[in-house]
Amino acid sequence: MRIVRGVLGGVDDLIELAVPRTCGGCGFPRVRWCARCEAALHDVPALIRATVDPGVPVWTLGRYDGARRRAVLQLKERGRGDLSVPLGRALAHAVLRLRAWGELAGDVVLVPAPTTAWAARRRGGDVVTAVCRAAARTAEPACPVTVAPVLRAVGAAESVGLSASARAANVRGAVRVRSLPPAGTVVLVDDVVTTGATLAESVAALARRGVPVAAALTLAAA
Ligand SMILES: [Zn+2]
Repeated sequence: MRIVRGVLGGVDDLIELAVPRTCGGCGFPRVRWCARCEAALHDVPALIRATVDPGVPVWTLGRYDGARRRAVLQLKERGRGDLSVPLGRALAHAVLRLRAWGELAGDVVLVPAPTTAWAARRRGGDVVTAVCRAAARTAEPACPVTVAPVLRAVGAAESVGLSASARAANVRGAVRVRSLPPAGTVVLVDDVVTTGATLAESVAALARRGVPVAAALTLAAA
């Protein structure tokens, strides 16, 4: 199947529909998610230094490779919406760990990084928000977590392939706060952090509305 992909793009989609049961993390047959990939996603969160410093601690669940990378790509690009559940579980565990470490306190409000309406349509929905909602379900009742999708990207084109400075310019002023999140410890969540430009712009947009961000947490760091 992997060989077919890229050679006969549309055929791969048909195969995926006909044989939907493969692990979203490793391709193992007959399961949607395997125990090995579940274990691989449950590293302790790591603190990283982004090229564009958002001014808050940036935590990540791990490197953008292996099961983590495949699961994110399958979720975003291959219509595997079911993978928001294991990714959400991993996100919830990271939130609970950060609370145990004293990095987060009180009720947590997860604010998904902004997505453009265009990207959401292309991906069949806002996948980061879906992961956050799955995380909130997992974290209850140990930790009250609410999800507040209040950020929206306006005008920014896809930043894949751009340099760090070009990415920063691409998202500058391109994040809007549609409404204020509920009171609580705001954690900004994104799927993959590359330069940190989107995180920085999101933190700045929330700060302009008087909303402090406690930390950023990403599913993976590229
Ligand atoms: Zn697997």
